[in-house]
Order: sequence, then C-alpha cells, then structure tokens
Amino acid sequence: MSEERHNWTQEEILEVYNKPMMELLYEAATVHRQYHDPNTVQVSTLLSIKTGGCPEDCGYCPQAARYHTDIEGNDLMTVPHVKAQALRAKASGSSRVCMGAAWRNVKDGPEFDQVLEMVRTINKLDMEVCCTLGMITENQAQRLAEAGLYAYNHNLDTSEDYYKDVISTRAFEDRLETIDNVRKSNVTVCSGGIIGMGEKVEDRAGMLVALATLNPQPESVPINALVAVEGTPMADLDPIPIWDMIRMVATTRIVMPKTQVRLSAGRTEMSREGQAMCFFAGANSIFAGDKLLTTPNPDVNEDMEMFKLLGLNPQKPFIKVAQPETVEAKDSKYESLGEKPKWTRPGHTIERNEVAKEQAKLTD
Ligand code: SF4
Repeated sequence: MSEERHNWTQEEILEVYNKPMMELLYEAATVHRQYHDPNTVQVSTLLSIKTGGCPEDCGYCPQAARYHTDIEGNDLMTVPHVKAQALRAKASGSSRVCMGAAWRNVKDGPEFDQVLEMVRTINKLDMEVCCTLGMITENQAQRLAEAGLYAYNHNLDTSEDYYKDVISTRAFEDRLETIDNVRKSNVTVCSGGIIGMGEKVEDRAGMLVALATLNPQPESVPINALVAVEGTPMADLDPIPIWDMIRMVATTRIVMPKTQVRLSAGRTEMSREGQAMCFFAGANSIFAGDKLLTTPNPDVNEDMEMFKLLGLNPQKPFIKVAQPETVEAKDSKYESLGEKPKWTRPGHTIERNEVAKEQAKLTD
C-alpha cells in the first residue's frame, strides 16, 4: 500500500514526472485503486458569487480589474440566487458546490455574513460546500467551519520560485498562512495550481513539493490547464499538450495518494480520450457547467455522455469526510473580530503584467 509521505523532494517528484509514460500511468493507476474507486468521479459545480473587479494582479486571471477583458462584473449574489443555483447543480448530478468571490481577502462585515448564510443554506441541501474567497484569518476559518463549510480552496498556483513571475500583489507565504488558518478549523483543504503559465517542469514539481509536504496533505488538489484569456498578461501563451496534463495528474496522484485530484480548467481543449487518460491516471473530480467562474467549460450533458461511455458514476457527497453540522448565526460562539491583517504586498515589477495593464488603459 502506498503511504502518504511528507518528505518528497523536487528531485524525487521530477523522477516520477519524467518516467516513461506507460510506467507512470501504471503506477498512478495502481496507487489510485488503493484509495479510490476508479469508476467514481466527483462532479462539482463552481459558482462565481462575486465576479470581476479584483485588486490583485494574477497574470492568468480575467477577473483582475487592472486588465481589459470581456468579463462582466457582478456584486455579491443573494442567498436565494445561490440556493437556486445549488439546487440546479444537485439536480444535474453535482455533489459539491464551490463558491468563488474575486476578493484579495475576506473582510468581516455584511458581505462575509452573507457568504456564511450561503454556506449554511447549501450544507442544509446535503451538498459539500467549498469556498474560495482569498486570504482568511483563523477566526474567519472558524466561522466558516461553524456555518458548515466542508472545504476551503486556496491554490498555490505554481512553485514558490515562479510565483514571483505571476503575481506581485501578494506573497507565496500568505497562501501558506491561509492554508494553515484553514487547518486550524475542521474545514478540509483544497489547494492546487495551474500548468501552462510558462513555468518549467521543475516549477510543476516544486508546487507538488509544497503541497505534498504539508502534513496532512490537502484533501483536494485541483490541476488546471491555463485558459489564456484575451487582455490578460498570459493571453498569448500556447495551450499545453495533453501529455503534460496527464503527467501532472499522474504525478499528483502518486505523491498525494489519498487526495481528490481535480481535473479543472482547460477541459474544453481536451478530447474525451485525453480526459479518460487523466481519469486512468488518478483524476477523480471534474467541474460541471458551461462556465468555470468566467472561462468556458464543457456542457453538463456532454459530461454525462462521457461518464456513460466510460462507465463512470458520479461520487456521492461526504464519502471521505463526514458532513459538518451547521450552527445558526444566532448561536455562533465566534464574534466578528473586524481584523485587518497585514497581508504582504511584494510590489515587484512583472513585465508582462505591466504591459497588459498599460494596454488596458489604452483600450478603456
Ligand atoms: S485569481 Fe483570484 S485573487 Fe487573482 S486576480 Fe483573479 S480573482 Fe483576484
């Protein structure tokens, strides 16, 4: 039985990543079968509860206010709207709803209270609830846990080294601190990254080192392929070959045997054969719905056809970790502290981010 190890080195992970493909696939599929049902894949729905206007400068993201993209910004959704969307997602086979808000960090106040109510509402629908809201403090993580949050997503995006070439408005250590804050609560951790941002294979391995050496390892690791969006600093990057995605999924499966590996953004560019190879290599979750926050994603019916073709079954909720209880706002034992943590702002210059920002000024 392959054990969860927390002492992976970059060299060891590179060795796994670069194995001959057939050997890599065989090893990954073997590990996968030790901890997971190979015919079950979780279907999750990603809901953008607050879109666009983000102050950060993530080079891949069309929601950053400083770049000129076609994204239509929206204020925070209402709780009934979120409930209606969650019910629709459940009816079409999703067992998990991930709510994303384009914020740098969570601020205590009415908007966060509204998100807490969304969490309570979805947990009561017996679905796994995940949030991705930016950096959070320990108190905020505890309040989310109390509302019934199942998972908190905070991606490392890439290696610590390459991070400086992607984002200048926050630091890699802030990501780790948020993950640590989530770990102090009962909420599970979802953290992964994006490949195809111009990084080296060493950076992919570096990101996996950062994730695999966390103890415990994240319960969920999304692997995204960059979707290059017009107006963002990474608009001109070529799509990555499917083989890179398969290698990344297989390596993630081997170094984090128990985690749910999520085949995330970039599926519209992948053939069914390519996706099937990713499932064989250990991916056991997809995001359903025609949009992934703001970028295109395959239609639910297409996915269900693919499931039928491959004999895959959607995973039921809470088969890995028990459903959290929901504590109502009036019974909460945590107060809103109104904290204003000093998250880092490195502020260094990233050439391509600056160019995209200047172009946006000319276009607006
Ligand atoms: S990835 Fe998140 S934090 Fe970065 S610009 Fe986009 S919405 Fe903002």
